[in-house]
Amino acid sequence: MSVADNVAAVRTRIDDACRACGRDPSDVSLLPVSKTKPPSMVDEAYRAGYRLFGENKVQDALAKSELMDADHPGLEWSIIGGLQTNKAKYVARFATEFQALDSLKVAHELDKRLQQEGRQLRVLVQVNSSAEPQKSGIAPEEAVEFARELTAFDSLDVRGLMTVALNTPDPKAVADCFDIVVATQEKLRQDVSNVSDWSELSMGMSGDLEIAIAHGSTQVRIGTDIFGPRDPAQIWRP
Ligand SMILES: *Cc1c(COP(=O)(O)O)cnc(C)c1O
Repeated sequence: MSVADNVAAVRTRIDDACRACGRDPSDVSLLPVSKTKPPSMVDEAYRAGYRLFGENKVQDALAKSELMDADHPGLEWSIIGGLQTNKAKYVARFATEFQALDSLKVAHELDKRLQQEGRQLRVLVQVNSSAEPQKSGIAPEEAVEFARELTAFDSLDVRGLMTVALNTPDPKAVADCFDIVVATQEKLRQDVSNVSDWSELSMGMSGDLEIAIAHGSTQVRIGTDIFGPRDPAQIWRP
């Protein structure tokens, strides 16, 4: 199966999952996650109509951007992995979106660099919905305070929340993670002014997209089921 076939099959899964729970398929977008994969594969998905691609390593994303942007009009990059403060300057330069914000230090550095570049960045706040200590993301109970602090950063266009659910075959445990994020969004809407446009819920990956959609996702991030497994021996490097 080609990338074009895979991306079409995933889009059909999303549409079916929406209909199965009475949602409008146009309410759920698909973010292809091209991390570790070569520009040739991004190009295939681009030709299938996709413009925004998820990458978890800033340096790799920047390298792909430099190789591809000139002859791919409208191509955009979303950083979906955690960011060290010293990498914020690169994100500020070329990315359209950052989905893993969980630190005020990074927010501050991004805002400063974005102002220097005269740019805005779409941002999602990552929520640690599984309470696994090694996972990134703010704790759900920290969300209200974090959201209040973020209003100080004019260059950050905060759009909503992102999460990575528990990696388990137990669908109930996965669903619980998504429900925690939905509850967090509701709490924010009650307690914080200026979060009415935090409507994006980036939830769901190759293994759990159907559960995520049934539990309110507005965007699924799909790598494996579009680009194939990430074989450590075949990682693309700039
Ligand atoms: C890699 C990654 C994905 C895609 O995962 P797949 O299981 O390959 O679909 C989604 N979100 C984040 C944050 C990732 O790092």
